Amino acid sequence: MRPPISGLDLPGVFLLRELTDGAAIKRFIDEAGPRCAAIIGAGYIGIEMADVLSRRGLTVHVLEHANQVIPGFEPVISGIVGEELRRHGVHVDTGVTVQGIDTAGQRLSVLTDKGPVTADLVIVSIGVRPNVALARSAGVQLGTTGAIAVDAMQRTNIAGIFAAGDCAEAFNQVLGRPVYMPLGTTANKQGKIAGANAVGAEERFAGIVGTAGFRVFDLEVARTGVGSTEISGYGLDAISGVSRHSSRGHHFPGSVQITTVVFIDRASGRVLGAQMAGADTVAKRIDVFATALHARMSVREVESLDLCYAPPFAPVYDPVLIAASVARKAGTGSSP
Ligand SMILES: Cc1cc2nc3c(=O)[nH]c(=O)nc-3n(C[C@H](O)[C@H](O)[C@H](O)COP(=O)(O)OP(=O)(O)OC[C@H]3O[C@@H](n4cnc5c(N)ncnc54)[C@H](O)[C@@H]3O)c2cc1C
Repeated sequence: MRPPISGLDLPGVFLLRELTDGAAIKRFIDEAGPRCAAIIGAGYIGIEMADVLSRRGLTVHVLEHANQVIPGFEPVISGIVGEELRRHGVHVDTGVTVQGIDTAGQRLSVLTDKGPVTADLVIVSIGVRPNVALARSAGVQLGTTGAIAVDAMQRTNIAGIFAAGDCAEAFNQVLGRPVYMPLGTTANKQGKIAGANAVGAEERFAGIVGTAGFRVFDLEVARTGVGSTEISGYGLDAISGVSRHSSRGHHFPGSVQITTVVFIDRASGRVLGAQMAGADTVAKRIDVFATALHARMSVREVESLDLCYAPPFAPVYDPVLIAASVARKAGTGSSP
């Protein structure tokens, strides 16, 4: 998305969408030698850019409109990410609205409602909107999310026109409705199915559960399913629990604390979502929850999974099992 602000076309201001954008940023750093970067938007891409630019030696300011970094994640997870950024010298400003970008001598000035931020390089990463102009002009029907409405075979409302990837909706198994969640993993699967069906196959996309992750400095962060934003947005009745547990055998070298939030449906006990942050094996542990969501497992079923234990990999109760137990007991009021 291009925000409706001035200065987006100034030299040193970049959006990051395609590989060529990444190459242009790298070239600018190599040639212009910027000392200071401002990143507008603290979503996945803004956070990843903060990491990368800091590693390149730039002073980095992250400017986020919402009151927390990685909006959509739970405050406890967002807080850990903010702390990791600050620990590595990144300046994080939340609750700030960017109003424009101007030149300031040889430098750039990012104008905000809290005052200007001087930078030599600006990255605009405020989110993604589906590119549906071509589809719309062809009379292809859009869904309520604004992306192209497709069925499980990736068919649109017009015979012979299929849609897949960032322009299309995906069926969310947890919510039981189409959503817009543009990710490479979904684009690949949908694209294969659309291509096969376009030449006569009858393949169906199983849908998504909403799994994504990223790394920032030493921290891995990942989520699957729904969080409190979707739970309140769709009027679900859920309970949640926050747990903190060792990533490996308690005294094993490299063991760190993993923080997990689990959401479960109050009435049925079905797991609805999980979010994790920690400096060890988080991104792959979230896949256990993703699998549980695909299988529509209850929290008790997750709690009793036979997961691998050996000190180099996990404590005897894996953080996934502990997190499920804590969330279940949050609903009963008993101690974990
Ligand atoms: C910086 C960044 C990091 C990301 N990291 C991850 C990640 O870690 N994990 C993950 O799952 N996803 C990630 N994503 C998302 C992932 O890249 C996208 O979901 C995926 O590329 C979508 O694939 P696509 O084929 O639908 O669209 P695209 O990859 O955008 O490809 C669409 C192509 O169509 C072309 N096009 C558009 N309109 C027309 C037209 N009218 N005529 C002809 N061509 C046209 C475009 O130029 C483009 O080349 C990331 C995205 C970005 C920007």
